[in-house]
Amino acid sequence: FPPERVRNFSIIAHVDHGKSTLADRLLELTGAIKKGGKEQYLDKLQVERERGITVKAQTASLVYRYKGEEYLLNLIDTPGHVDFSYEVSRSLAACQGALLLVDAAQGIQAQTLANFYLAFEQGLAIVPVLNKVDLPAAEPEKVAEQMHQVFDIPPEDCLMTSAKTGFGLDAILPAVIESVPPPPGNTAGPLRMLLFDAFHDEYRGVICMVEIIDGHLRKGDRVVASSTGDTYDILEVGIMTPEPASTGQLCTGQVGYVITGMKSTRSARVGDTWHLVKQPVEMLPGFKPTKSMVFAGIYPITGADFDALSAAMDRLILNDASVTVRRENSAALGAGFRCGFLGLLHMEVFHQRLEQEHGAMVITTSPTVPYSIEHTDGSHEEIQNPAQFPLGKKLSGVWEPTVAATVVTPSEHLGSIMELFQERRGEMLEHTVLSPARTLLRYTLPLAELGGNFYDSLKSITSGYASFDYDEGEMRKADLVRLDLLLNSETVDALARIVHRDKAQRIGGKMCEAMKEKMGRQQFEVIIQAAANNKIVARETLKAFRKNVLAKCYGGDVSRKRKLLEKQKEGKKRMRRVGSVDVPQDVFHALIKS
Ligand code: GDP
Ligand code: MG
Repeated sequence: FPPERVRNFSIIAHVDHGKSTLADRLLELTGAIKKGGKEQYLDKLQVERERGITVKAQTASLVYRYKGEEYLLNLIDTPGHVDFSYEVSRSLAACQGALLLVDAAQGIQAQTLANFYLAFEQGLAIVPVLNKVDLPAAEPEKVAEQMHQVFDIPPEDCLMTSAKTGFGLDAILPAVIESVPPPPGNTAGPLRMLLFDAFHDEYRGVICMVEIIDGHLRKGDRVVASSTGDTYDILEVGIMTPEPASTGQLCTGQVGYVITGMKSTRSARVGDTWHLVKQPVEMLPGFKPTKSMVFAGIYPITGADFDALSAAMDRLILNDASVTVRRENSAALGAGFRCGFLGLLHMEVFHQRLEQEHGAMVITTSPTVPYSIEHTDGSHEEIQNPAQFPLGKKLSGVWEPTVAATVVTPSEHLGSIMELFQERRGEMLEHTVLSPARTLLRYTLPLAELGGNFYDSLKSITSGYASFDYDEGEMRKADLVRLDLLLNSETVDALARIVHRDKAQRIGGKMCEAMKEKMGRQQFEVIIQAAANNKIVARETLKAFRKNVLAKCYGGDVSRKRKLLEKQKEGKKRMRRVGSVDVPQDVFHALIKS
């Protein structure tokens, strides 16, 4: 296929607007997969099927006949959720066009906007598609009008489809061929290729997804990864149909996979430029490196499982180079890891995959965002664990990450949404009326405030009718303190948090109450306190209560006595000692979760 008969495109949409279903239909239409097979073919991971979201981008090459010519169409599926927007932007970098899919009943939603701007910034040709026109609630004309108002797309350009009934699908690929330009590369030039994704296959090792920008690539070529200088032999090269199919070569503009015998996806720098040995080329602009925005400790449920957890983590991060992992030790939880994630959903998905795909039972500490401590000499230090927050030392300030949040909501909920953002320390940036019934709001908001029950609150306020998305914002100075929980004056490291000063007392009080309730009575009096930057802000007292295991045995049954004493010893093993207090491990777990 010469470049003029290649098109590289992706589908961008708000979650649930039908992207995966449409991708399936396009695969069926071109005979790549059989009709009536398993649904959402490209959503391979178990968590994707369960949650109905796409986490890893997948690629499929379709062959399509149009006006007597065969075209090679490379469809690159992208995740819809904001946490995975790095996956979206890396997939878009390999494309010249995008189908902008909008649910004709729901209209433009928060992620529609975010994804549109990603595509727009990269100069992609946009093919607008209004999907789900079969729904009784569909209002395609009104949504087409919104597309005009928000994106300046002429209403008559919008294709109308139903990925469910098949209505209108025939028009999609012709529109892609007509509107999306062919890849612009130089066929005669030396090989220049973009590495845009990599994943680990159990049987074949690391599989790298590439786009040939200039020249061509053949099996047996020896290539250099520009960023590291490492050289690799191309052992196999081919296209995804959507299973890998060896073709022996890839030409200018084509998207496909290569296998090089690389050991770990960590060696595959996404965004890197590869070239032939001794034929250096100018590097491609590459990608913004991903930055961890949420950190949490991950600990095995019992200390004995540490090695199993460690092995499971190794296997999982082979396939997710965006997670950062460091060993850490906690007095309360033992040996574990401090992990960095792109967002809360990314963290949950990682946790779920650890348990489901690798059988590791773990406890995750409450997530924290990366704070920046400004010391009096002007230097900055990033804090990834609240227990590292310096106490008793003068600081110039504490900076926290913010986000630029977008909400699209039915207008009747405006008041309560504004209250929610106020309570979460938000500042309004924009207020646009989309239609008489819908309003778009933009806010600057501390990233940390998206934790807790933010999403649940937003959902319950609006009965699920608002959509929400955000982009990374700037670092902002804020009045933040470290909040500790103390047992008989000893700090419990795993429960330390960083909070706004105004909220320290309330949150501290709640933590003390929860601790008192969960601990039950102890053999000695225990004083539970919360301290904000070393100053006590809340206190509870647990009364002493001698638990006499022998009280139950009347008379002198010796063997029964021994049994009970042993049982008590057993129970003690699952305790963690904090200063002078033995705390059952499950109390920590309960407190971390609450
Ligand atoms: P994604 O999150 O954008 O990948 O959306 P999915 O493809 O997973 O679709 C979300 C839901 O919408 C699924 O239950 C689909 O069966 C349904 N769906 C997709 N397209 C259509 C359509 O054209 N009409 C109707 N009625 N439902 C659709
Ligand atoms: Mg999907």
